[in-house]
Amino acid sequence: MAKRAAPLVGVLALQGDYEAHAARLCEAGAEAEEIRSADRIPLLDGIVLPGGESGVMLSLMERFGILEPLKERILAGLPAFGTCAGLILLAKAVEGEDKRRIGALDVLVRRNAYGTQIDSFRATISTTVLGAETVEGVFIRAPRILSVGSEVEVLARHAGDPVLVRQGSILAATFHPELVPGIPLHAWFVDSFVKKGREAGQR
Ligand code: GLN
Repeated sequence: MAKRAAPLVGVLALQGDYEAHAARLCEAGAEAEEIRSADRIPLLDGIVLPGGESGVMLSLMERFGILEPLKERILAGLPAFGTCAGLILLAKAVEGEDKRRIGALDVLVRRNAYGTQIDSFRATISTTVLGAETVEGVFIRAPRILSVGSEVEVLARHAGDPVLVRQGSILAATFHPELVPGIPLHAWFVDSFVKKGREAGQR
């Protein structure tokens, strides 16, 4: 069967800021599709897990039968990009919680580590991966990555903490690049993760 010209990237759309992600994915040349049930998961070339409230997202993912099929595909190499709560869904371990989650990203995180909503902040983040030297990081009740496994590359830090990490086909940020138009992270995800995965025939 002929493949579509643009890769199809799902955005988990049960809760949170999925619309901003869909807009950034379209700007990056992908076809974005909001995912609220399991039936479209087999068709995806990539998946974005947005910011929001990870506890609510996890219960809705279980209720709508999305958690297990999505976890299976991500563990099998489906490119995934999580921001903030999305990173928490992907994390192998969350301090003080033992809920079922995707668990494919070998990090230990602490939720709401910088305080409450009023402690949300913006910071300039230095990274070498994007061509741009710095990007603006918007941190909203952000998690803190306390430790990373040996397979995890730290791509950017803020105040010593990893804030952008990669493990193979998984990319995750504790901040919200989707809320700042012009940050090339979605383009990098689409070009270097999703399109590469497609070429390598991961589906
Ligand atoms: N505090 C949220 C959580 O723990 C994450 C916040 C966000 O995604 N902006 O799930």
